Amino acid sequence: MDQERERIQADLRGLVKGDVRCDDVFLQLYSSDASIYEIKPLAVIRPRTMTDVVACVEYAAENHLPIHPRGAGTGLAGESLGPGLVLDFSRYMRRVLETFPDSVRIQPGIVHAQLNEFLRPLGRHFGPDPAMSSVTTMGSVIAIDAGGSHWLQYGSARGHVKSLQIVLADGQTMEVGREPIGERMADPQSRRGQLVSALVDLLRREEQTIRDHQPQSVVNRCGYHLTDVLTDEYLDLASLLVGSEGTLALITEATVFTSPLPKHRGVALLLFDRLDSAAKAVMEILPLGASACDLMDRRHLSLARESNAQYDLLIPAETEAALLVEQEGETLTVVRDKLAQVIDRVRRKKRLAFHAVQAQDREEIELYWRLARKVVPTLYRMKGSTRPLPFIEDLAVPPKALPDFLVRMQNVLKQHQVTASLFGHAGHGQLHLRPFLDLSNPADVTRMAQLAADLYREVIEVGGTISGEHADGLSRTPFIRQQYGPLADVFEEVKRIFDPNNIFNPGKIVNDDPELHVRNLRHLTTIALTNGAPANGTEAVETAAPAPQTWQLNWTGDEIAQTARDCNGCGACRSQLSEVRMCPIFRFAPAEESSPRAKANLMRGILTGQLPANMLTNDEFKAVTDLCVNCHMCRLECPATVDIPKLMTEGKGAYVLTNGLRSNDWLMSRVDRLSWLGSLVAPLANWAITNGPSRWFMEKVLGIARGRKLPRFASRNFLRIASRRRLTRPTRRDTAKVLYFVDTYANYHDPQLAEALVAVLEHNAVAVYVHPAQQSSGMPMISLGALGQARILAEHNVSLLAEAVRQGYQIVATEPSAALALTHEYPALLDDDDSRMVAANTSEACTYLWKLHQSGKLQLDLRPVNGVLGYHMPCHLKALQVGSPGENLLRLIPGLIVNRTENGCSGMAGTFGLQRENYRASLRAGRGLINSLRSPRLQAGSTECSACKIQMEQGAGKPTIHPVKLLALAYNLMPEVADLLSAQVEELVVT
Ligand code: SF4
Ligand code: SF4
Repeated sequence: MDQERERIQADLRGLVKGDVRCDDVFLQLYSSDASIYEIKPLAVIRPRTMTDVVACVEYAAENHLPIHPRGAGTGLAGESLGPGLVLDFSRYMRRVLETFPDSVRIQPGIVHAQLNEFLRPLGRHFGPDPAMSSVTTMGSVIAIDAGGSHWLQYGSARGHVKSLQIVLADGQTMEVGREPIGERMADPQSRRGQLVSALVDLLRREEQTIRDHQPQSVVNRCGYHLTDVLTDEYLDLASLLVGSEGTLALITEATVFTSPLPKHRGVALLLFDRLDSAAKAVMEILPLGASACDLMDRRHLSLARESNAQYDLLIPAETEAALLVEQEGETLTVVRDKLAQVIDRVRRKKRLAFHAVQAQDREEIELYWRLARKVVPTLYRMKGSTRPLPFIEDLAVPPKALPDFLVRMQNVLKQHQVTASLFGHAGHGQLHLRPFLDLSNPADVTRMAQLAADLYREVIEVGGTISGEHADGLSRTPFIRQQYGPLADVFEEVKRIFDPNNIFNPGKIVNDDPELHVRNLRHLTTIALTNGAPANGTEAVETAAPAPQTWQLNWTGDEIAQTARDCNGCGACRSQLSEVRMCPIFRFAPAEESSPRAKANLMRGILTGQLPANMLTNDEFKAVTDLCVNCHMCRLECPATVDIPKLMTEGKGAYVLTNGLRSNDWLMSRVDRLSWLGSLVAPLANWAITNGPSRWFMEKVLGIARGRKLPRFASRNFLRIASRRRLTRPTRRDTAKVLYFVDTYANYHDPQLAEALVAVLEHNAVAVYVHPAQQSSGMPMISLGALGQARILAEHNVSLLAEAVRQGYQIVATEPSAALALTHEYPALLDDDDSRMVAANTSEACTYLWKLHQSGKLQLDLRPVNGVLGYHMPCHLKALQVGSPGENLLRLIPGLIVNRTENGCSGMAGTFGLQRENYRASLRAGRGLINSLRSPRLQAGSTECSACKIQMEQGAGKPTIHPVKLLALAYNLMPEVADLLSAQVEELVVT
């Protein structure tokens, strides 16, 4: 950290209660957002209170430093990026403060969807619905005047803001709304009075210019909003500030109006064989009063068909465009009639659509809305450097100009030989166009600038706006003068009135730099990291070693850099909604560094030389990598499928290679050795884990949380049992053959599980072989970055497993983490054919049994088992992408009622929840699951993962039983499992 940053950090830490970070790691995390830009700030501040915000503003004013307010960092135009102090409101200022019958008082960092979740039980919601509702903050919604698909019904944020608490550029605070003018005007000598009179004078003086230079589109949020804010009685200051992108004042609280939730709604999907037919249909639909009318082009629909078989069935390949139309109503009949009218008019009377369907069922409606909303992000799955870029993605034209404009738009794209994807809220003329370009190619950067200029000319000619609902930011500010002519001078004056020293988000909205939109583009060119051998196929350069001599995982060519670049910064991985599972760590610590995006940004920073290579071995870097527990959920759910866990494993590995493991991590990475030791002295170990003083000692020395219940040790481990039962000899039977990969938990803690699997397999005529030399999977080592040791284990296991596969065995593991290690982690550690062969022939136990059932080979002589279970799907099983085989097997058992709990991660995350420092966080993360298991309806839990079982039993106070054990019970192979169903939890895990 340089001296200036050190000084700023020390100064600000003395002034604010929130976080102040000026280190390289944090600055890298806040250098980018969802836009195409990257600018390193001077400092990141996460204020806790308005007083913190005031202190920052005063400090910035005194030291002539710019301030850039930021929410979730999902802006597409770079509006929250800048070289000054970034104020992140999303970390601490995220509360609902007060609720009124028709409004709600909020802090700016609250997430839009979370606000609506809070309002739902009250029968209300905040109407405007930006596409990234699951992560975008209300501060951002107000700062950019966001709209969304339901603009036709609710308009944009501006219409819903009652008043704002703001901090002005001199640090003064005030509540603003409709400010009286004339006789009731505030004291002209007061700051409020000065502000209001200066603005009133300006607006009156420039009334004609303001009126003459407005676009004709029904939506427009470009520049400052100066129309309709001044009447004879008041100046609507809150309305003027909405959409000002943090350039005039900072918002610290807001009172926003809420609306009643629609009673009923339904959607119609209209399919067209021409894009212009869809555009014409919009004008037919609008008089029928739709609440939403979204347009999707051919590319969007093709992607949807590829990603989901339901869409493939629904949308014929020849479809060129589709409109999704929503209607709301007091009754379902009203909704149905309204939709029928839309279909009748567009399809039968006007013959514009060739096909139409409608839905009123909640699930079906969601399916249709996902078609509109979830497909755009998946555009980023395309490999290579060419990407759909958001830089001209916020066009809006008058709806009646849509057919003409679409032709003009296609001509401009053709002229520049660029393809693009198109999605839009056609009902209000809003078009989100994303051209496919390669930002690392200078020719494409030039093309991008020309394309923007040519397209914006067309937009303005048809009376449209270059920015309908996102922001001007860095992408559109250079074109504001072209959009508004002399009105741009009035904007400059507005800015001077509020912020004479230009400290609030300078350069946005008011800026004459014609090249702003092509400066500060995100760094994508990778450098080599090693001293000597080029690391990524690029020229070797000297770096400030120590850096790893080579990557420790198996990456082909430029793959590691490509993986880091694949993250477009969309921020979807900051979601805390129950509909997704990523990221368990972000869920209970919703800070930027916890997010999967942060990890990609960090690695990209290192790979592109924005951070020194030796950062990999730095403790600040480790602090961020430690916030990944290798659950793999983001790899599955990220719309761009970025393999963050692999990047993090590599990053942790680099740290450990230089610094070694910390003592606690060392112990956790060898949890199998601890279990082995405990099992050797089981009576003593079982006493020790129940004894208060010894638990205190274990916490101090081993770092294992005192409050965490631990599983008992088995005095005879399963490998010994298997040897006695001669399972450790290969079978000579000519039958289906399985090699059981036992792993730590079943071996040392729960041999009953292993015996249940053997019994179930044998009952189904599958021969079982337990290789006596097998070792644990090493997953804890991999998750903690001890890759050298993990590789030794992997080589050992792969050599014996590969031989077994060659002899016709399938590998089966009862522990999902072990199955994931064998199928996913080993091939990344060992670049050889044997590890790939083992991976291809490994299954999790329930998956293997379910496949037997699917091929008609599973015995179905199952006896009834009476019970009601809550089934939890473990993350590592989900990561295997095999569906829900354990749950399916349970449903085969007569009498057993299975309720799937959909509450995300259990919070244990392998050994994470065992550790003292993570214990409480782990319980918090698993709260949803634990609460649902506590339901008196449920007798017990069921899951495949041993770590989840520990958490479920500890939290819910009920037994949790592996599906294979229940299957063994139902086959009457292990009647003793019945006792587990009624066991007191103390008998299962210990206090
Ligand atoms: S990791 Fe995926 S979800 Fe997260 S910001 Fe990057 S692309 Fe978006
Ligand atoms: S692998 Fe899991 S813990 Fe790690 S970043 Fe992804 S979602 Fe978060």
